[in-house]
Amino acid sequence: MSQSITILGATGSIGQNTLDVVARHPDTYSLFAVTAHGNVSAMLDIVCRYQPQYAVMVDEHAASQLRAQLPMDTRTEVLGGASALSDVSACAEVDVIMAAIVGAAGLAPTLAAINCGKRVLLANKEALVVSGELFINAARESGAQILPVDSEHNAIFQCLPDSAQQQVGYMQLNNHGIDKLLLTGSGGPFRHTPIDELVNQTPQQACNHPNWSMGQKISVDSATMLNKGLEYIEARWLFNCRREQLDIVIHPQSVIHSMVQYVDGSVMAQMGEPDMRTPIAHVLGFPERICSGVKGLDFMTLGELSFMPVDFARYPCLKLAIDSCWHGQSATTTLNAANEVAVAAFLKGQIRFTDIAEVCDSALQNLVSAHVDSVDALMAIDAQARRAASRRVEQVVYA
Ligand code: NDP
Ligand code: MG
Repeated sequence: MSQSITILGATGSIGQNTLDVVARHPDTYSLFAVTAHGNVSAMLDIVCRYQPQYAVMVDEHAASQLRAQLPMDTRTEVLGGASALSDVSACAEVDVIMAAIVGAAGLAPTLAAINCGKRVLLANKEALVVSGELFINAARESGAQILPVDSEHNAIFQCLPDSAQQQVGYMQLNNHGIDKLLLTGSGGPFRHTPIDELVNQTPQQACNHPNWSMGQKISVDSATMLNKGLEYIEARWLFNCRREQLDIVIHPQSVIHSMVQYVDGSVMAQMGEPDMRTPIAHVLGFPERICSGVKGLDFMTLGELSFMPVDFARYPCLKLAIDSCWHGQSATTTLNAANEVAVAAFLKGQIRFTDIAEVCDSALQNLVSAHVDSVDALMAIDAQARRAASRRVEQVVYA
């Protein structure tokens, strides 16, 4: 029987890669709904090509434009507004959700799917970073299955024994003979840039990742390595790690996507081309394997693989993320919100590359730790952090 899928963030980099893999298996998957924020032309292409039941545009004006441009014979119904995201995630007809909205905006619809016990393919790392324990507990209560799409977490998941794969969010790593999880990161486009020249790097240079092609926000996060920081926090929740069980290692070639080190000294690694269709196909097909369109590695031409420790002086955002992770939920929610504000300001040319860390740090300085037991409480912290970060951005702009 075919599985009905909703793709949140269908017009983005992960969304388009998901459509590519889904289209290779038309008998296995049927497209229930696709969503975007405001990109009408990309959504029009998707609707004409895949004819999903629903297309959601968060921006109501974009929804009207899309309706006006659809061919007469289209069966797709267009919905507008943010609440429609949760409707097409929680709908009884849906089996699988690809959570690929960028930023904390993805939290509500992803949680809506989690609360209904769906299978959730999780690319939207910010959702887990801002809600951590609440997200994991919601999945445990509803029986929702979380399958990690982020290449590092997908790699670790693939290197776990079956018994641990059944317990995403609450496994005890030492009960499975696991000593440590090793997240790999390439170091991004500025790994060799002299530290005193980082200040002058432009958005275009920051988005020019040496190995991966991705959306703008995650590309900037990769340049600051805050992306690895968000992934560190994501790993802490998905794999229920303690501090000494989680490490980051620089691996510039992006061939090994992450590793699991066992107590007997064995290290399991997952390798592959830097192409997100591999982890996407893995989670779509799980526990079976399905074709992704990606070829295996050619070891005859691969060359050397190298590994080195992180230089935190080059990547201050990564240090902030690791400290926030063990400080508590208010800190990681604050860091994520401040970073979203800072990256948007950097992409608009308002602040310099090195100001991103400065804006994040200043929002964390303003942090008042609070007990967080609801989405409303999380969103209040998120809003407060965005205000603090915006004030800092203004100070930088007018300095
Ligand atoms: P993109 O920027 O390419 O796409 C983002 C998607 O989210 C688009 O469909 C966009 O719609 C939609 N969107 C943006 N803002 C909102 C909003 N406020 N409400 C609803 N929808 C919104 O991002 P990526 O595909 O690169 O990344 C998506 C997520 O996956 C991120 O969390 C990222 O960290 C994670 N990820 C990405 C990887 C990659 O290779 N790209 C790898 C691993 C994880 P529109 O087009 O209309 O603006
Ligand atoms: Mg990743």
